Amino acid sequence: MMFDAIDHALTHNTCDHILRHVREWCNQNGIESWPIETWLQGNGGYCDCEVLANTEQSFQEACNPRDDVQE
Ligand SMILES: [Zn+2]
Repeated sequence: MMFDAIDHALTHNTCDHILRHVREWCNQNGIESWPIETWLQGNGGYCDCEVLANTEQSFQEACNPRDDVQE
């Protein structure tokens, strides 16, 4: 899970004010980072610590859309 990896990384490193750990996580998992970076920035995550602070909830919601839309 990307957020856990970033959280863990930031307990041992300070934030570089870039999406450094996002990119590292993507590299390690063979995932292209630019679509993820674009999405994170669109949700207020311009660096690793902002990703943790601002985007985790949006990410959960994007992954688990609420299915309370009833006809
Ligand atoms: Zn930061």
